[in-house]
Amino acid sequence: MKKIRKVTVHAGHNPSGKIACGASDLLDESTQARYITKKVIKLLKKNGIKAVNCTVNNGTSQSDVLRKICAKCNAVADADLHISIHFNSGRDDRKGDNKVGGTEVLVTENVSDKGDIAKRICNQMSKLGFTNRGVKTNRNLYFLNHTKAPAILAEVCFVDDKDDYMLYKADRLDIAQAIAKAVLNHNKCE
Ligand SMILES: [Zn+2]
Repeated sequence: MKKIRKVTVHAGHNPSGKIACGASDLLDESTQARYITKKVIKLLKKNGIKAVNCTVNNGTSQSDVLRKICAKCNAVADADLHISIHFNSGRDDRKGDNKVGGTEVLVTENVSDKGDIAKRICNQMSKLGFTNRGVKTNRNLYFLNHTKAPAILAEVCFVDDKDDYMLYKADRLDIAQAIAKAVLNHNKCE
């Protein structure tokens, strides 16, 4: 396995309030994805990894946001990994039923470095109490299909599930740490 020396990280949508701004419920996807992105970058840099923020704030549509994100990612020379931060929705549990929706990470193929880091993110998140929904293969996502370096898309947790919301609010910095740790631990275990 290859050591990850340079990554890009971005929040998957336009800013809150703009067109194509992502899911908004108990949690606002755009706002929280930007928070997690910034913290992951900070933590990686602190640990000697080059990390570039490729978030786009001026997309004119969802497809324009995605095009611009990929252009930014691909303009970063020698990137070893691209990470997209999203939040999931569709649980429709605003009261809380003590079942946490949890985390999943999407990849075009569950192989090599990206598969390993994707799995590590799910494992680290499960230590914080987020259900491990696992690494999922998806070949239909623009971002995964249009980035040159290996790419992963993390669905951190659900915006419309009180149980996810409570865990998230408890310490979102731990979540950024879990994602950063996945990369750092990958590098330790060659
Ligand atoms: Zn999203």
